[in-house]
Amino acid sequence: MIEELREKLDNAEVTSEELFNESLKKAHQYQDEYNSFVTIIDQYKIKKRADSILTGIPYALKDNFSTSGILTTASSNILKDYVPVYDATVYKKLKQAGAVLVGKTVLDELAMGGTGTTAATGLVRNPWDKERLIGGSSAGSAAAVALGIVPFAIGSDTGDSIRKPASYGGVVGYKPTYGRISRYGLFAFASSLDHVGVFTRCVKDAAIVTDIIKGQDSHDMTSLKDDNKTYAKEVDNDIKGRKLFYIKEICNLDNYKDSNDKELIETLTRFNELLDKCKDQGFIIEEVSIDKQLLEAIYPTYMTISCAEATSNNANLTGIQFGPRGQGNSIDEIIFDARTKGFSELIKRRFILGSYILQKENQEKLYLNACRIRRLIVDKITELFKEYDGMILPASGSGAPKFDDSSEKLSDRYLILENHMAIGNFGGFPSITIPYCFVNNMPVGVNITGRIMEDDVVLNIANKIEELTGLKGIKAGDTHV
Ligand code: GLN
Repeated sequence: MIEELREKLDNAEVTSEELFNESLKKAHQYQDEYNSFVTIIDQYKIKKRADSILTGIPYALKDNFSTSGILTTASSNILKDYVPVYDATVYKKLKQAGAVLVGKTVLDELAMGGTGTTAATGLVRNPWDKERLIGGSSAGSAAAVALGIVPFAIGSDTGDSIRKPASYGGVVGYKPTYGRISRYGLFAFASSLDHVGVFTRCVKDAAIVTDIIKGQDSHDMTSLKDDNKTYAKEVDNDIKGRKLFYIKEICNLDNYKDSNDKELIETLTRFNELLDKCKDQGFIIEEVSIDKQLLEAIYPTYMTISCAEATSNNANLTGIQFGPRGQGNSIDEIIFDARTKGFSELIKRRFILGSYILQKENQEKLYLNACRIRRLIVDKITELFKEYDGMILPASGSGAPKFDDSSEKLSDRYLILENHMAIGNFGGFPSITIPYCFVNNMPVGVNITGRIMEDDVVLNIANKIEELTGLKGIKAGDTHV
């Protein structure tokens, strides 16, 4: 973990070049089996005069962040040869802090999808069990941290793309308040929902990395004025009296009485045990009930808004400004050909949905209504946040599914349980997933979401809960070496 590495570097027990080479060796060693990376950077480069807690620490960056001079594909065929000419702010800040980039990680194409299986650059496997998926879209970043290749990795999160793979990969995944970290240079998916965030192996490390990359950026008009807090200093604060709620409709076992899904029952049982431990530690935890209709609307609302925004944002992927040029006699034919060859089925489906939603005659009924429902959901949670400091829920209903899983995770039964984390994107709330138990030998995460702007509080709560799980710092790589 970062603090240990810092100490070793400062005591000259190891050099940053040695750390980099070790990461590089693991990156190559695991690549064939797990496919975390689109590009591995084989050359050690460090900004010599940097002096920060991250100086000399290796890390990985999702391949939808612009890196000048380094191939950036977003795991899409339409960008397979794209080499950007400018740096994303996050990358620039990490460079300035002296962190060392080991590689660009695989994602579900253009960050759409939640399985880690739709990348044009190949599917990513779960480090805890190769027959299972790791989840997405930040699949490679989650796998690289879970394998211990790097102590931290950067991801993006539009619906749950950091927090879901964190759950499946047994690592910490944190998405701060909307605008806390600049998105300049992050390929836009759905701008009103997109967030930059981090994967680490403990909560304190998530705070350490966020401290370095947060802050206002003149290149991103949605970025927030810095709160001038140092989250790493706040994580150990006392939590006595902090109030959390969980949603009855999602985690009360009575809802699943007729289910014979053993993994789901075990996940929820272990969740209830965790709540008891939290209460012993001084947290106040209460059950609240939310209109089921509203909760069931989360997923369709997310799809409506994100497909509409994605269709508009990605209209520049024509194969003309960048990407392989299509064939044809007219501009329309050229673009048609480039986009037909450049996108997978999933992307095409979403663009068709998005175009339909954005058609003039559908805008009011579909897009604007989805925005209204989003507002109702956010208002409900904000109202609860008047009384509670945070919401605690399982990040998934089981460990990672197998690649050929046909248990219908998208069926009605799982609709809310598997999709509630989009609430964090709807409201821009800070939200973190940390490992809390193993079910059927696979890790499962718990998610904590807090009030907007209160990143310090969410990290503090998560840090205290992490102490109770006994799973701080776990990594799948241990079982491989
Ligand atoms: N799984 C969600 C989707 O399919 C979330 C993706 C994301 O957060 N980037 O769009």
